[in-house]
Parts: sequence; structure tokens; C-alpha cells
Amino acid sequence: MTASGASNSTPGTLYVVATPIGNLDDMSARALKVLGEVALIAAEDTRHSIRLLQHFGIGTPLAACHEHNERDEGGRFLTRLLAGDDVALISDAGTPLISDPGYHLVRQVRAAGIAVVPVPGPCALIAALSAAGLPSDRFIFEGFLPAKAVGRRARLEQVREEPRTLIFYEAPHRILECLQDMEAVFGGERPALLARELTKTFETLKGLPLSELRAFVENDSNQQRGECVVLVSGWVAPEAEDAVSAEVTRILDLLLAEMPLKRAAALAAEITGVRKNLLYQVALEKQKI
Ligand code: SAM
Repeated sequence: MTASGASNSTPGTLYVVATPIGNLDDMSARALKVLGEVALIAAEDTRHSIRLLQHFGIGTPLAACHEHNERDEGGRFLTRLLAGDDVALISDAGTPLISDPGYHLVRQVRAAGIAVVPVPGPCALIAALSAAGLPSDRFIFEGFLPAKAVGRRARLEQVREEPRTLIFYEAPHRILECLQDMEAVFGGERPALLARELTKTFETLKGLPLSELRAFVENDSNQQRGECVVLVSGWVAPEAEDAVSAEVTRILDLLLAEMPLKRAAALAAEITGVRKNLLYQVALEKQKI
């Protein structure tokens, strides 16, 4: 990798490097190699990262790249990259850009036609999902919810009928309020999981329906400490709609366009053999939309 100031027409590479979320043994061999070889490390908090680098005997210079200076200071890193220096981006923990700074820098660097290379590793949401036992084929990451109750509830309402597994980051001092609001909006029966202090000494993964999970956290103040990820099972459509196939729904829709609801449900039942009452319910639901 090139030393700073080299008269090199080939630009350097920006490496986006994941670092541990608690357990230093999770630092990858590749991350160590890259951090040891780049000319400069852009770090969210240099005082925090210096301890990590010292632990691994890495002496690469650090420069601050946090959410307040990221847009303005991006040029500084760009200049180094254009001069041929390789630069690594790290955050305080886990994968940069995931509820962490780096988005603006990566955008600027890519817009300048400079290579951006991910060095993957720890990420709290992926670690939690991998062990949660909730559907993992499709999921959405909602990051941090708004701190105030009104905003938090409004955001939860927006995803109430989201069928994919929902993943949230939450601060420990808000975890109880957050679970209370989730219970109110999603219902107490919805399966959920709290992943706390992942990879650390007091790691806890507790999977329960939301009402029981809220009670578990309410009754044990230790559960209101440390870093946490909340996962909530996606919305499952009510049984009535589920039981009706796409073809039956199509027939019902055609009839509903031509006649009153009750008559349409009765005729659809005659054509398809599906219970009249069930089709009547589905037709009523459709009218609400
Ligand atoms: N970039 C990080 C990542 O890749 O996961 C996330 C940074 S974000 C500022 C910090 C939040 O991530 C915490 O408030 C918590 O919700 C979650 N988190 C980070 N480390 C965690 C851990 N060890 N256990 C549980 N959650 C963690």
C-alpha cells in the first residue's frame, strides 16, 4: 500500500472495516491486516479506537470521521485517496454505516470513482438475527426508534402490518418503554426476542411473546442495562384472508365489482365451494381498505 504524498496517479482504496461489538476475539485476520497496512484510519471516535488498535499493536495514524464532520471532512480523506493512499473507515463497534457514520464518506468516495471495499465482520443486528429463531429469509432493519413516545408509536404503527421480521436497535434506558409501545401496537402475542450484550460476559437472548418479554424486562432491572437489539416477528394475516386462495379472491373481486356485497359473497361461495360466511368476512375486510 502506498505511503502518503506519493506521486501516484492510481488512487488508493477505501476499506470499510467491521470491528468487534464486544468480544475482541471477533476481530478478523483480514481486518487486522488492512488496518495495519493502510496509510490512515478514519475513525468515529479516535480516543475509543486508539485503545482497540493498541490492543492489537497497530500504529496506523487515526483521523476523526464522525457524524458532525463527515460531510465537511470527507474532502480530506478524498485528497489522501486521490494521492494514492489507502484509507480504512471504522466505527466505535461493529460495521460502519449501520447506525454509525460513514454513509456520506462512502458516497463521496464512490462518486469520485474510487474503489470502496468492504471488510465484513461483526454487526449486532445480524448476530441477533442469526440466533433468534425468527424468520430470517426476509427482514427489515428499522435502526433506532424515535426517543419520544409519540414519534416511537407513530413509527411502530407504520410497520404494524409488515410481514418481514422487524429488527430495532434500542438504548438500555428506553428498552422498557420501547417494549411497552411494541406490545400496545403489535399486540402482546407477537413473538419477539431481546438480544442483549451480544458477544460479552452477560450476553442474553430471550425469546418470548411481547407481553411476556415486556414483563421479563420490567421485573428485572438488569435487563434494562447494556446494549440491545429487539427483534419482532412479522405480521401474519388474519386466518380468514389466509384461507382464501388467490383464485377465489379473484372471483370474489369480479363479483364485488358487479353486485352488492352479500350477493357477491353468496355467488362466490356457490362457484368456489368456499364457505359463504368466510367470503362475506373477506368481502367486508376488502370494503374497509
Ligand atoms: N455499527 C454497529 C453494528 O454493526 O451493529 C451498531 C452501532 S449503533 C451506534 C449501537 C447499537 O447497536 C446499540 O445501541 C445496540 O442497539 C446495538 N449493539 C451494538 N453492540 C451490541 C451488542 N454487543 N449487543 C447488543 N446490541 C448491540
